[in-house]
Amino acid sequence: MKGFIKDEIPSRWDENRMTHDELLIEINRRLDVSYYNGDPQSMQALRAVVELHKPITTPNNFSYCPECQYGHARGVYPCPTIQAIEKELS
Ligand SMILES: [Zn+2]
Repeated sequence: MKGFIKDEIPSRWDENRMTHDELLIEINRRLDVSYYNGDPQSMQALRAVVELHKPITTPNNFSYCPECQYGHARGVYPCPTIQAIEKELS
């Protein structure tokens, strides 16, 4: 059973996807732009959500989202919330 959960992670998320830090950098970049455009609130809200869904990595390199585990989902990172945000920002 070792590695069972990790093997279920869709392979499309294993390669070429942003790390949590890279996602925050991208959101901060867009937030800087939104300050000039006069509507920073939506990007600030998005950043707050991403900061909340911060992964924890176990010693055997398995990452999970504690926020989504609280909601009784499996919590595998990237969780559905982060996947949805990454999809829209890519
Ligand atoms: Zn989450």
